[in-house]
Amino acid sequence: MKLLVTGGCGFIGTNFVRLMLAKHPDWSIINLDKLTYAGNRLNLMDLEQNEARYTFVQGDICDRELIMDLLADQSIDAVVNFAAESHVDRSINDPSPFVTTNVGGAQNLMECARQRNIGRFVHVSTDEVYGTLGKTGKFTESTPLAPNSPYSSSKAGADLMARAYFETYRFPILVTRCSNNYGPYQFPEKLIPLMFLNAKAGKSLPVYGDGMNVRDWIYVDDHCLGVELTLTKGREGQAYNFGGDAEEANITVIKTLLSLLGKPESLITYVTDRPGHDKRYAMDFSLAQRELGFAPTLNFTDGLKKTLDWYEANTEWLEQVQSGEYRTFMDSWYEER
Ligand code: NAD
Repeated sequence: MKLLVTGGCGFIGTNFVRLMLAKHPDWSIINLDKLTYAGNRLNLMDLEQNEARYTFVQGDICDRELIMDLLADQSIDAVVNFAAESHVDRSINDPSPFVTTNVGGAQNLMECARQRNIGRFVHVSTDEVYGTLGKTGKFTESTPLAPNSPYSSSKAGADLMARAYFETYRFPILVTRCSNNYGPYQFPEKLIPLMFLNAKAGKSLPVYGDGMNVRDWIYVDDHCLGVELTLTKGREGQAYNFGGDAEEANITVIKTLLSLLGKPESLITYVTDRPGHDKRYAMDFSLAQRELGFAPTLNFTDGLKKTLDWYEANTEWLEQVQSGEYRTFMDSWYEER
């Protein structure tokens, strides 16, 4: 199988490319990435230098000519779209790049793939498109989309476009909706790597509101397995939920992390809650269990230990991604709070 993967220099895309090339000796991957602040070409430099089955192309999913050219290669079997603006706080500061890439770019990719008769397209989405839950219940694939942030609204926009491409054109598209990922290569503006960095430096750990917002956590490789199963076994036109069966309040995640690092809870500082902050997400992924044979393989504590070990062993990576644009964004984030 030959894949066009987009956003492969980001967190989940990097893990997906690595896993799929290791697991499938007969697969090859073209990775198209714009290299925004969140994209790091060095994540996959070893493959770029030593692996003939991997090709990197710098470019934008909004660029029709480029995508049409790439897909003119008759041997591309499928597209997997990870490329997105992905940080909720940034979407609150400025929604426009989220609409451009997450809606416009995704639609452009779907359209080019349709025109080039690509046989399979997996669009990677998120549980956040469903909005928020009360104390009980879980999101299923038939839960109405009710996104609350500019980020999740832009993702929901692409999910609806994917639906339209299937219903209108019978284009063979599938959607994955997954809960919060954690693991190696996650950019340190997200909760777990940010808290790791601050704890190591003895800096305060900012926690939104009362810290009781609940998320379902999934180790990134388990999400990648879900995307792989969707690609190879999923039903066209279907959206599949994926989760780690690990609901945790943010404050519990942070306290577990501090205890694994041997750092005091006194580092925790509560900051003004994020506007429109969803209270609870939980995923019913029984459809993926039944139809695709999906099951998460790692529990939260083991996954967290593995992740912290990776960050401990990769301080150079962390230092390198914390320069430039990242530093400017984080400084203004702290100033506002
Ligand atoms: P990320 O921000 O780490 O990576 C995004 C990548 O996309 C970067 O490499 C960036 O350079 C690239 N990109 C951005 N705009 C682009 C454009 N216009 N053209 C080409 N490339 C572009 O994101 P992530 O956490 O790896 O998430 C990947 C996907 O998974 C996203 O679609 C996100 O919505 C979805 N998702 C993420 C999570 C999570 O917990 N991180 C959970 C569920 C779903």
